[in-house]
Amino acid sequence: MKKAILISLLMLFALSLSATLGTTWNQYYFRFELINKVELQELTRMISIDNICGNWVYAYANDTEWEAFEKLGYRTQLLPAPSSQFTGTIARNPGEMRNWDAYPTYDAYVAMMTGFATSYPNLCQIVNVGTTVNGRQIIFAKISDNVASHEAEPELMYSGTIHGDEVTGYMLLLRLIDTLLSQYGSDPRITNLVNNAEIWIGPNTNPDGTYYGGNNTLASARRANGNGYDLNRNFPNQNGSTNTGPIQIETQVMMDFALSRHISLAANFHGGAEVVNFPWDYTYSLHPDDSWYISLSHVYADLVQANGPSGYFTSVSSNGVTNGADWYVIAGGRQDWMNYTAQSREVTIEVSNTKMPAASTMPNYWNYNYDAMLSYLEQGLYGIHGIVSDPYGNPLAATITVNSHDTAVSVISTDPANGDFYRYLNPGSYNLTISAAGYPDKVITGVVVNANQKTSLNVTMGELLHQQEISLAPGWNLLSFNIDLGENTIGTIFDNDLRQIKSQSATYSPLVPAHFNNLAGISSGKGYWVNNLSSENLVVQGNLLSTSSSQELASGWNLVAYLPDTQMAVSTALAGINAYLQEVRSLDSVWTPGGGSLSQMQPGKAYWIKVSQACNLIYP
Ligand SMILES: [Zn+2]
Repeated sequence: MKKAILISLLMLFALSLSATLGTTWNQYYFRFELINKVELQELTRMISIDNICGNWVYAYANDTEWEAFEKLGYRTQLLPAPSSQFTGTIARNPGEMRNWDAYPTYDAYVAMMTGFATSYPNLCQIVNVGTTVNGRQIIFAKISDNVASHEAEPELMYSGTIHGDEVTGYMLLLRLIDTLLSQYGSDPRITNLVNNAEIWIGPNTNPDGTYYGGNNTLASARRANGNGYDLNRNFPNQNGSTNTGPIQIETQVMMDFALSRHISLAANFHGGAEVVNFPWDYTYSLHPDDSWYISLSHVYADLVQANGPSGYFTSVSSNGVTNGADWYVIAGGRQDWMNYTAQSREVTIEVSNTKMPAASTMPNYWNYNYDAMLSYLEQGLYGIHGIVSDPYGNPLAATITVNSHDTAVSVISTDPANGDFYRYLNPGSYNLTISAAGYPDKVITGVVVNANQKTSLNVTMGELLHQQEISLAPGWNLLSFNIDLGENTIGTIFDNDLRQIKSQSATYSPLVPAHFNNLAGISSGKGYWVNNLSSENLVVQGNLLSTSSSQELASGWNLVAYLPDTQMAVSTALAGINAYLQEVRSLDSVWTPGGGSLSQMQPGKAYWIKVSQACNLIYP
C-alpha cells in the first residue's frame, strides 16, 4: 500500500518535472560568412537568421536545425548566447520595478500586469490569451475608456519579446502600460488615445524563452519557445503551408487572439538591431501600401533618432527604416501573417542593438522611444474611419477595397460587432468599393484622406424599404398601395376578416367558390374596393413607386390609386388633368371644380375620378 503511494508520488513528480522543463534542447548561436546573399533564401527556411552585418550572417538553431545546417559545410563560428552576458538587476515584485531599472521575475511580471487592472478597473483589463508550452501565461492588457465594452474604435496592438532573449521591448511596453494608465486624464495625448482606441499591449509573448532558466532569472533566456522553435518563423505562409516545424502553441494562441479581434495597427518589438522593418519580410514584391508603410515607419524612426543618442537607429540603414526583404528575407514571420491573414498593418521594431541591455539603461531606452511609441499609436487614429450598416442601422460584415490600389493582401473588413473599419492611406483622394453579402456593392468616390487626420465615412448598404400602413374600417373601404408589393398576395396582405375585393372591373371574395372570382391578385398603383369584417391596420413594406408613372384614365369614371407619399389638395394632386376634371369621390366625400367636402387626397386611399375625356394622370 505504502509502496503504491510512493510510486504514484514519484510518477507525479516526474510528470511535473517534464511539464516544467518541456523538452530539453540546445540553442546554437553562431555566425558565418556569406558571399552570395541569394543563398539566404534557402538558409532562412533551415535556421533562424537573426541579423546580417556586412557578409556576416548571425543565426540561431535548435539541435535538428543545427544538424542539417552543419552538413552544408559553412565555416561557422559558435558564439556565446546573448543572455550569457546578462547582468541585469532582477525585481522580485512590482515594488522593485518602481524606477524601471530592473527586469521582473516572471511572477513579478504577472503580478504587475494584474495590478494594472486592479488599480485602474475602468481603463484596464488583463486578458490571459493563452498558455505556453511550459504553462506560462501570454498576457495582454486592454486599455481604453469604457474598457469593459467593445466600442467602434480602432484596435491597436503592441507586443514584445516573441524572441525570448530580446527584452528591451518587454520593459518598454510594461512601462508604456503604466504610463497610459497613470497619465490618463492629465496628459492630453494619452487621454485622446485611450478615449479613441482600444489598445492591446502584450509585453512578453514568449515567456518560456525569456525564463528558460526559471521564473526568477533571465540569465538563460533563449530566442525560441519551450520546444526550441523560433516563433517568428512559425506562422503559416499566405497559402496556409508551414515553414519551420509544427505550429507551436504560442503561435496558435497569437493567431486565435488576432483573428478574434480586428487589430488595425500593430507593432512587434524586437532587439538585436535598431530599425523599423516594414512588410514584406517573405518576398521582395512590395505591399500595396508600401509608400504609406514608409511614412508610418518614419513616424517612429525619425522621433527615436531625434530623441536618442547619435547613431541610435542606424544599425541597418542611416534613416532607421528598412523594407523587410531588403534587410533579409524570412518566411513565417508574424508581421507578414498579421498583414496577409489578419488584415492588420504591422511592422517590426528593433529597439536595441544589444538584446539584453543592462537594466540600468532601460530608463534611457524609454526616453528615446516614449514619444515615438505614442506617435505610432496615434497613426491608428488617422485615415478613413468607417461604419457599414444595413438600412436599419445594424452593423454589417463588409469588405473594403480601395479601387485601383488594393490586392487580396491589403483588402480589409469591418468588425461585424460594430460595423467599423479603419483604412490607413497616404494623403489623397480614393474610391472605395464596399461589399457585404446580400447587398449590391457600393462604390464611394472621392474619399479624401489628409495627413494626420481622420476621415469619417458612414456607409449604408441597400435601401430602407418603405412601410405603408393603411387603416381599414369595418365594411367598405377605398384603398390603394403606393409601394411595390413585390411577392405580396391577397393572402399575405389581408387576413380571414376579408369579405371582398373589387377593382373597377373584377372581383374576388374568399366567401364564394373560386370559379366566381375573376380578380387574380392585387397590384400596386391600382385602386380597389375592399370590404373587411373588422377595423384593421394593414402594414406592408416595399420600395415606393415613382409618382411620375402615368395612369391612363378613360372618359367618365375611373377607380384610381393615389401614388404620392404625402397628402395633397385635390387641385394640386390632379393639376395635370385639371382641364378634364369633373368630379372626385372618396368613400365619404366629394370634390367638384366648384367646391365640395373633399379637400385633401391621402396615401393609402383610392378615389373615383370623373374626366370629360381620356387622359393620362401624372401626380406632381
Ligand atoms: Zn527578434
